[in-house]
Amino acid sequence: MPVSEAWQQRLTDARTDRQQAHRWRTRQVVKSNTLDFAGNDYLGLAQDPRVCEAQAEGARRYGAGAGASHLVSGHLEVHDALEDALAQWTGRERALLFSTGYMANLGVLQSLADRHTAIFQDRLNHASLIDGATLSGARLRRYHHRNSNDLARLLERSERQHKLVVSDGVFSMDGDVAEIATLAHVSQRHNAWLMIDDAHGVGVLGENGSGCAGGVTSQDVPILVGTLGKALGTAGAFVAGDAELIDHLIQFSRSYVYTTAQPPAIAAATLKALEIVQGEPEHRAQLNANIAYFRRAALPLGLPLSDSATPIQPLLLDSETRVMTWAARLAQQSIYVGAIRPPTVPNGEARLRITLSAKHSHSDIDRLLEGLNSCQREEAACHVTA
Ligand code: PMP
Repeated sequence: MPVSEAWQQRLTDARTDRQQAHRWRTRQVVKSNTLDFAGNDYLGLAQDPRVCEAQAEGARRYGAGAGASHLVSGHLEVHDALEDALAQWTGRERALLFSTGYMANLGVLQSLADRHTAIFQDRLNHASLIDGATLSGARLRRYHHRNSNDLARLLERSERQHKLVVSDGVFSMDGDVAEIATLAHVSQRHNAWLMIDDAHGVGVLGENGSGCAGGVTSQDVPILVGTLGKALGTAGAFVAGDAELIDHLIQFSRSYVYTTAQPPAIAAATLKALEIVQGEPEHRAQLNANIAYFRRAALPLGLPLSDSATPIQPLLLDSETRVMTWAARLAQQSIYVGAIRPPTVPNGEARLRITLSAKHSHSDIDRLLEGLNSCQREEAACHVTA
């Protein structure tokens, strides 16, 4: 078979497999009049005029792009200022910018771990953490979700020289939060380092918004990852920790070294967003009020809410067909929610991933609840007529 035909067959087989499993991924162009309950702009900062103006001013001052990687000539004063501000915010010695959270997780794990390392990950960790562990060549063990006894059992059995425990801070598809103090305690007892990816916690949780591990010492959480494309409203990510860790990443993290630096205008916008997060706690208060409002109204409707106190409020519908039907019905009403199916979540655990933001009004949330209720009513009517 000629090469091109072999490749054609490979693509056709992959497509057929995915379609037969009803897992074909779809992508929609989100129109500006859509009510967005799927994004991660938890504080509404992506649309904040001050953040947008800082980005425009940053572009005028530094140009549209960094023009090179950080180690060549792409590391500008605005990147340095942002790293200092992030380190101070999270109570760490230093911070290092990455172009995305995916790259930060890959870069940390690939540079710290090797075949002499055992990495212990929560079963529900983000894909980038799993990919980073695979790339590192370390032995990967996965413990039951938020189960520190299972983690301790696996740690006890391991004879690897270096051990690294890795967990999401806020779990991206469930909205529940890791028990940081317990993870720190178990890790230290077994001489393991702890890495927390708080992509969905920074800006949202903690007294000054610095996330679920921000107020925890770097002795307890030596490796802290945060993303900037969610509550901070811009793009990119950072790793915060001791100077020695950061120096190591600058030397050995391939996804840091071999890529163009974050556009400086994004760093300028992020500095402004960070100033707002630290100086205006009212956005976090509004977000928490919206979460409480949504849950109070959703509970009596009998919607299958999960036990989450964060902006991520999944509705556990279980079946992939139900998830797709509900999401399509909501889309007809110009309401956009995440339709999450395996392999992103385990089999049988398909869900609508609803996310709340400080920018939602109570009437936006009422519209969502009415839409969800109409999905329920329609389903009940089908059962009666079937
Ligand atoms: N970690 C977690 C827990 C995430 O949810 C995400 C994004 N979905 C990432 C990392 C990746 O971040 P980014 O989008 O900046 O690549």
